[in-house]
Amino acid sequence: MTSTSARRHLLEPARQTPVIAEVDVLVLGGGPAGITAAAAAARAGCRVLLVERYGFLGGMGTAAGVTNFCGLHANVHGELTQVVHGLADDLLDRLRQLGGLNEPHALFGGKICAQAYDNAALKVAADALVLGHGVKLLLHAQAVGVQMRDTANIDALLVETRSGRGAIAAQVFIDASGDADLAAWSGAPFEKGPELMYPSTMFRVNGVDAARAGDAWNHFGALMAEAESKGRRFARRTPIIRPQKNPAEWRANVTQLSNADGSAVDGTDAWQLSAAEVDGRRQIVDFVGFLRECAPGFENAYLLEIAPQVGIRETRRIVGEFVLTEDHVLGCASFDDSIGVNGWPIEAHVQGDVVFRFTDVPQCRGYNQLPLRMIVPRVVDNLLVAGRCASMSHLGQSAARVSGACFAMGEAAGVTAALSRAYAWRPRQVPAPEVQRLLEAHGVWLGSDD
Ligand SMILES: Cc1cc2nc3c(=O)[nH]c(=O)nc-3n(C[C@H](O)[C@H](O)[C@H](O)COP(=O)(O)OP(=O)(O)OC[C@H]3O[C@@H](n4cnc5c(N)ncnc54)[C@H](O)[C@@H]3O)c2cc1C
Repeated sequence: MTSTSARRHLLEPARQTPVIAEVDVLVLGGGPAGITAAAAAARAGCRVLLVERYGFLGGMGTAAGVTNFCGLHANVHGELTQVVHGLADDLLDRLRQLGGLNEPHALFGGKICAQAYDNAALKVAADALVLGHGVKLLLHAQAVGVQMRDTANIDALLVETRSGRGAIAAQVFIDASGDADLAAWSGAPFEKGPELMYPSTMFRVNGVDAARAGDAWNHFGALMAEAESKGRRFARRTPIIRPQKNPAEWRANVTQLSNADGSAVDGTDAWQLSAAEVDGRRQIVDFVGFLRECAPGFENAYLLEIAPQVGIRETRRIVGEFVLTEDHVLGCASFDDSIGVNGWPIEAHVQGDVVFRFTDVPQCRGYNQLPLRMIVPRVVDNLLVAGRCASMSHLGQSAARVSGACFAMGEAAGVTAALSRAYAWRPRQVPAPEVQRLLEAHGVWLGSDD
C-alpha cells in the first residue's frame, strides 16, 4: 500500500449540499493564527465563523502538546523583551488568571526566551478569547473542499460534521489551517518541499523530583551521548525537555518522525501520518525508559500525556505577494507594510537534529518585521492566509512559524478582512496604513526602525 497510487476511482453521485451558515468572514483552523484572526475580525463588527476539526482550539499548541510559546519575545539589543502584543496579551492574561502560565524562561544562555503554559488552560483561554469577541464556533467540523464563485473567488467552504455535510458561505475567507488546505483547494499557488521540517510527537511526564532534577535541561544532551555510547539509539539530538507550571511536570520535544527512506513525514499524507503516530508513541516509550534510567530526578517519572496528534511543523506554504526568507529573519528586515514582528531565530528540524541560527545580537535589534503581503495569496481574491502556511521560504518558515508570529499574522488577517468588508475592498487592495492604524489602536507593536 502506498501513499500516492490510486489505481481505481469511484464516481460519486452528485448531491445537494445545504448551506448551513452565511457569514462575513470564515476562518478555517483554530490554532494561534486562527483564534486571533477570528477574534480580530469579530471585534471589528464582522459576523465570523471559526471552523475547527477538533473539539477544542489551540492548534498545534494543544493538539500537538506544544505547551510553550516561542516568539512572543525578542532579544532587542541584548534585552529580552516581549514584542508580540495585541490579542496575544489578552490570551496571556486569561492564561494567567487560570493559573496556567509560567514566567518566561531564558534559553541558549540568554539569547532568547520562551513561555510555557498548561494545555488545558490554553483550550479554555482560547474559547474565552474568541467567544468574548463574538465569534461563532463550529467544532468537530472537518473542512473538505471549496465551492468557487469564479476562478478568483471562493463562494463556500465544504465541511463534514456529525450533522452531515454542509457548505458555509462567506465574503472573505482566512486560511489558518496550518497546511494551507483552503488555499490549495481554491487554486492559490503554494509550495511543499522538496524538504520539510521533521515532525515530532510531544509528550509530558509527571512525578519528576524537581529539586534533584535541577537544571536538567542543560544536561540531557550529555546524558544522551553517554547512553548512546552504551548502545541506546535516539531519533534526534538537541532534546528540549523543560518544566511546566507544576515543577513535577516536564514537557519533552525529543522525537523525530521520518519515512522508511529517511525523508520527513509529510503531514498532508494520511498513510505517512498513520505510521508516524505509531512510531512517535514507540519513540516516547523508549525515551521515558531512558529518562527513568539515566536522568537524576526522573527515576519515578511517569508518562502523563502523549499529544493527541503528531506535531507538524511544515507542509504547504503559499507563494503570496511577498515571501519571507531566512535572509529577512537573520538580517532583521524592515517592511513599510509591517503587521508585527518575529524575534524567533531560524530553527531547522533537519534529519537527526535541530539547527538554530541567531541574528547578530546585541549589534542588531533581534527581530524582523512581518509584511502584510506575506498573508496575501496570489490568484484568489477573497482569501487571506495566516500562520505557519503563510508566504515564507522553507527556512524563513522555520522561524516565523512559532506561536508569536502566528498570533501577529492572525490578528492582522482578521483586521484586513474586516476592512475589506467595511470598504468593499478586495483583501489585497486594503491599504497597509489602514491595517497598521487599527492594529496599533489595539496595542499591536509593529517594530521600530532602529
Ligand atoms: C512538535 C512541535 C513543537 C513546537 N514547539 C513550539 C514551541 O515550543 N513554541 C512555539 O511557539 N511554537 C512551537 N511549535 C510551532 C507552533 O506550534 C506552530 O507552528 C503553530 O501552532 C502554528 O499555528 P497555526 O495557527 O498556523 O497552525 P496550527 O497550530 O497548525 O493550527 C491549525 C488548526 O487548523 C485545524 N485544521 C487544519 N486543517 C483543517 C481542516 N481541513 N478542517 C478543520 N480544521 C482544520 C487544525 O486542527 C488546527 O487546530 C511547535 C510545533 C511542533 C509541531
